Amino acid sequence: MFQDEVRRAAEILRSATRVVAFTGAGVSAESGIATFRGAGGLWEGQRIEEVASPHAFAADPVHVWRFYDQRRTNVAKVRPNPAHEVLAAWQERFPNYTLVTQNVDGLHQGAGSRRVVELHGSLWRVRCTGCGREREDRTAPLPALPPRCAECGAFERPGVVWFGEALPAEAFLGAESAAEACEVLVVVGTSAVVYPAAGLVAVAAAVGAKVIEVNPEASALAHLADVTLRGPAGAMLPQVDAMLAGG
Ligand SMILES: [Zn+2]
Repeated sequence: MFQDEVRRAAEILRSATRVVAFTGAGVSAESGIATFRGAGGLWEGQRIEEVASPHAFAADPVHVWRFYDQRRTNVAKVRPNPAHEVLAAWQERFPNYTLVTQNVDGLHQGAGSRRVVELHGSLWRVRCTGCGREREDRTAPLPALPPRCAECGAFERPGVVWFGEALPAEAFLGAESAAEACEVLVVVGTSAVVYPAAGLVAVAAAVGAKVIEVNPEASALAHLADVTLRGPAGAMLPQVDAMLAGG
């Protein structure tokens, strides 16, 4: 019974002080965002790996920017869902809480999360390809593509991690050290089969942390999870939170 699983998740979390939540595409999908990740992701008939890459940007920056401008414009219209809200509220509940995400849409911040470790960067940041200056830009759609750096005039690029690029070191190390120190890792909306997700789960499990998985689909993570909540995070997390609040 999933009610038993909800109760077990709440029991594990009740006494915890060091908690890491790790989120992926499933949480965004519940808000209605096309995430394009995963096999077979297409945009205008083109494989997503062929749009979201340094090679594609070098060949045709306007084309790549059209894709990101469209994503930014779509994301700007959607709202965080109850899963985002619970994960934001937990920053008040747990004394030591780290929210790590693979999502680039900023919906965690939209729900009120103040510190988010963004492993894949953000749609709302742009970075100069000339001088490296980074800035936040929330204009969607952008007035001109590609945007240009106000300092040096070079093209700016989306502040996201593309296929073939390394994760930002600071974000990854932050996620890893939080996983190493946590008592509970809550994995939400990601199958966690590929690096770095798999690595974070392994790190937490190795130090004896409890692993709670929230995912509507069966995943390769299940054998590492102490509790598996097999359902949408927007429905499951509020139930766990209500049980926590109920003492
Ligand atoms: Zn510049």
